[in-house]
Amino acid sequence: DVPKIYVITPTYARLVQKAELTRLSLTFLHVPQLHWIVVEDAPQPTPLVTDFLAASGLTYTHLHKLTPKDRKLQEGDPSWLKPRGAEQRNEGLRWLREMGAAAAEGKEAAALEEAVVYFADDDNTYSLQLFEEMRYTYRVSVWPVGLVGGMKFERPVVEDGKVVRFHTGWRPNRPFPMDMAGFAVSLRLVMTNPEARFDGDAQMGFLESSFLQHLVTMDDLEPKADLCSKVLVWHTRTEKPKMKREDALQKQGLGSDPDVER
Ligand code: UDP
Ligand code: MN
Repeated sequence: DVPKIYVITPTYARLVQKAELTRLSLTFLHVPQLHWIVVEDAPQPTPLVTDFLAASGLTYTHLHKLTPKDRKLQEGDPSWLKPRGAEQRNEGLRWLREMGAAAAEGKEAAALEEAVVYFADDDNTYSLQLFEEMRYTYRVSVWPVGLVGGMKFERPVVEDGKVVRFHTGWRPNRPFPMDMAGFAVSLRLVMTNPEARFDGDAQMGFLESSFLQHLVTMDDLEPKADLCSKVLVWHTRTEKPKMKREDALQKQGLGSDPDVER
């Protein structure tokens, strides 16, 4: 079999959640040997996500981890103030390490040695080719990400087959000036570096670096997507739906049934 891809997705309740998860699941259904780790930012699993996953047709693990209030963006905060999804990605890593440690010797353990871990936010857009690029990852593989950082794309710059710097519009001297969607890590590396995690208190733009610094140096990065010349993933963001009419109807007791979506 080809190496397995473990995809960790943080997700939280909002009007577009089921639409986002639907779009994502339709992509993942086309990817062989994909195991989806969905981590809800919630105090317990919600019926919406529970029922959605059961009907999805995917192989999955359903986890939850509530972001503590002091680490969560509040209504009106600018979106760059605090990192989003850090606690949930760490929870996914915790599950993977536990699963990996419990794996039996022999064939099962050998398969895990080859597996790869990817962090896929629920609102981005992923091509199918992306998963085949990351599938064979020795340590950390990297590629361009479209529509991010106020740029058409950001990307690692490759010379003589090696990543030598990063094309980015902002703080290029960060240890790893890359978006979450721009790299995958071998499960073996995650297992052998148990201290590697996302720092929820990281400064703006340093969340990815806080994790990757434990694992590799720039010299170790494995450029994919034609030496980082192709954009195969986009940091799309979904507009928040306007609820003007809904709010007006609700005041008259005529709001839409809240249970219809689940
Ligand atoms: N997320 C979360 N809790 C939150 C906000 C976001 O779990 O309070 C998740 C979200 O579903 C997504 C990831 O964290 O999978 C990144 O969030 P978002 O897409 O809002 O970040 P941005 O695109 O602005 O970097
Ligand atoms: Mn996003």
